[in-house]
Amino acid sequence: MKRLPSLAPPAFLGLGGLLVLGLVLFGTGSDRTYDAGVLEPMAAEAAEVVEVKALGHGQTFGGVLGRAAVPHAEQQRVLMAFQEQHSPGRLRVGTEFTFRYLRGDDQVRGIDVVVSPDEMVRLERADLGWRSSKLETPTWTDTIVVAGQIDRDLWSAVVLNPDLEAMPRGDRARVIDLMDRVFQWQLDFSRQIQRGDSYRLAFEREVRPDGTMRTGKILAAELVNRDTPLQAIWFDLHGDGEGGYYDAEGESLRRAFLKAPLEYRRISSRFNMNRLHPIHGDRRPHIGVDYAAPTGTPVMATSDGTVTFRGVRGGYGNLVEIRHSRGYLTRYAHLNGFNSSVRQGSRVSQGQVIGYVGMTGTATGPHLHYELHRNGNPVDPLDVDIPSGDPIPSEYMERWKAERDQRFTLLDAATQNRPLRMAEGEGLPGTSADGRSSQDQ
Ligand SMILES: [Zn+2]
Repeated sequence: MKRLPSLAPPAFLGLGGLLVLGLVLFGTGSDRTYDAGVLEPMAAEAAEVVEVKALGHGQTFGGVLGRAAVPHAEQQRVLMAFQEQHSPGRLRVGTEFTFRYLRGDDQVRGIDVVVSPDEMVRLERADLGWRSSKLETPTWTDTIVVAGQIDRDLWSAVVLNPDLEAMPRGDRARVIDLMDRVFQWQLDFSRQIQRGDSYRLAFEREVRPDGTMRTGKILAAELVNRDTPLQAIWFDLHGDGEGGYYDAEGESLRRAFLKAPLEYRRISSRFNMNRLHPIHGDRRPHIGVDYAAPTGTPVMATSDGTVTFRGVRGGYGNLVEIRHSRGYLTRYAHLNGFNSSVRQGSRVSQGQVIGYVGMTGTATGPHLHYELHRNGNPVDPLDVDIPSGDPIPSEYMERWKAERDQRFTLLDAATQNRPLRMAEGEGLPGTSADGRSSQDQ
């Protein structure tokens, strides 16, 4: 992903209701429409013309070439060049072929075939036959700022936010996942968000020509939960892309353990030293947390560590056990299956998928049984003080403060244009008598 050396100054470009800041460069030299600028930047008329055709039902690559009037003798050479990059038999219905011509010349000089959302095969006429190359689909990076009020839950507040109308719905849902990951240690989105909460968000996304998001990263976020603002600001300490999130004071939001080993979760049974067992019918302690989730849901290691067990163990069924530093140990039970790269003795990192939810062993339905042990004793993962990540070291403070302020300005841009209803009665300019902004959903 191409990046600018520094954040571009905020330039507000309306894009179908989105606030897009600092629209940045294109990933490669070509766009989907090969317009006048491609060959002759000064020409008044486009030097190159293109024709786009799509692969129809039951059609072959050769059929498309025929429709584009590529001479039969040449079709075979084009196909052979294409085969060096991709199998023609694997092309899906609807695949786009862009035929490129020089103006005034009816001989095809190049063909671009979009073989996946992120890749395209470029075919070019060469001195002898045709040559092919594989290109990454051009993308560009932009920054979106958005704010909203939570009237029901976070999902509807973000996915149904009219300011995000121009963004594909699936991508809006992905933004919630990003938020969940950022705030996972501070807040349980499924239980603690309530009506009257609000959010401000600035995220950077890499966009494909079809408008879908290839990657996304939250730069700054603020969630006002029960009148308490929670803030998260991205900072890349070592400049290696492996940054993290910090609060305004530079304290890391990261904890040594993920709050939960699953993304989509519902707690079905808590840690309880005196639980009536659903199968055995007697009182026995439940020394873990059960998360109800569909079979096959990925299960993640909650912290870096070494796998000490992977296999079947009694009522646990398929079990993964991981030993972590500082005397911690975790167990993930009733798994449907394991991630093949996870074996006894292998190193795993926080967030790595180790297996999948199932109901092996003693289980009445698909769920994950998760245990956390400290110095040999089971502890309640939902009620334990987990050591936090390191704060920003003093030698990075100056850079941190500059970047923090810059990213906070992005959040202010989100609300300046869209006055938010304040939590209780603190009307902002532009809010109506009932405290509701006309721009709220
Ligand atoms: Zn359990």
